[in-house]
Amino acid sequence: MQVLTAPRPLAEVTSALNHWIEVDIDAMEANFRTLQGVVGASEVIPVVKANAYGHGAAGVLRILEGAGVYRVAVAWLSEALALREQGVRCQIVVLEHIFPAQAPDVVRFRIAVTAHSREVVDALGAEAVRQSSVANVHIKVDTGLHRFGLGVSDAMDLAEYARTVPGVFVQGLWTHMANADEVDDSFSDEQEAMFHSALRRLSWIPVVHAANSATLLRREGLRFNAVRTGIALYGIIPENTPDPGLQPVLSLKARVARVSVVEAGEGVSYGLAWRAPVDSLVALVPVGYADGWRRSLGNRGTVLIGGRRCRMVGRVCMDQFIVDITGLSVTEGDEVVLIGSQGNESQTAEEVAELTGTIAWETLAGLGSRVPRLYHRGGMVELVDGL
Ligand SMILES: *Cc1c(COP(=O)(O)O)cnc(C)c1O
Repeated sequence: MQVLTAPRPLAEVTSALNHWIEVDIDAMEANFRTLQGVVGASEVIPVVKANAYGHGAAGVLRILEGAGVYRVAVAWLSEALALREQGVRCQIVVLEHIFPAQAPDVVRFRIAVTAHSREVVDALGAEAVRQSSVANVHIKVDTGLHRFGLGVSDAMDLAEYARTVPGVFVQGLWTHMANADEVDDSFSDEQEAMFHSALRRLSWIPVVHAANSATLLRREGLRFNAVRTGIALYGIIPENTPDPGLQPVLSLKARVARVSVVEAGEGVSYGLAWRAPVDSLVALVPVGYADGWRRSLGNRGTVLIGGRRCRMVGRVCMDQFIVDITGLSVTEGDEVVLIGSQGNESQTAEEVAELTGTIAWETLAGLGSRVPRLYHRGGMVELVDGL
């Protein structure tokens, strides 16, 4: 990642780029402040797994550290180590499974981890003692999602055991809701009750977190003293969830690579799966399924060119796809918006997700790493990653 000491206009930085992602620093900071305002005294733990939901973990961490974030969460130790390698200094919590053999890295790079067995706790303690350090451990209670974690009584036993192991500090207790953004989220009541039964005996654990974005926005009683927020930080409101005034953060853009004429009856792209019904003008857009623009969008999706919605035609290739621009005046190098706004039109990540039969989480997390990320404030680029 590169920090521009003199910010440069987006138009200038992108003038010779085939495709790029724009991350709006002001919007992300505003979302962080808005969510902090919602939860009051609780700590907002941004979830930055999966390359910060496609936004680019290095750039996002720089923004968050600038905004005063204390701690972030990732799924895997490998993600935490990559962040440390990029110079991230804030606390990092690993939410998912680790092996005892990973203890040396956990301790050396001061990562807090979720421990699920005595073997893991013992390995962490031994390593922390060897390195004259402390291993921060979180215990996850499985309250009904049946994903990672321990049942209530096993979680209580492990927490109390870990408390006695030299070199180990039990920092956190957490759980995760199954039906956070369902119309009927009443199962959260059962999970809450089960979590409380663990919490009652483990009230000595300092950091308690149970809410993701939807839960923190819908259920005040599940905010405890910390919340883990991913999608809301990136400006997307989960279904059935009130919007506290979040702003979209990410845009995916490209520049037209070729404009060509396709005569009536001729086809485009693999399989010639679309044939021009009349003499047509088409534009080639240099983003493909390798970049996360799903193949199932072929012949169905749209993009914005010149402030107009244009229909994708033919199959999406690994690196590019084609759109129908018949009747429009488009030239090579014109800007194409795949996610974001242009003129009075916009296309959201939620719309793209819906078209591909998935959710915005998958659409964003699937954005490929070969697309450069540009971090800007009001159109002035401050950070670039992947250029
Ligand atoms: C991904 C994840 C989150 C963040 O969820 P959002 O819905 O994006 O806020 C929180 N907690 C856990 C355990 C997760 O896996």
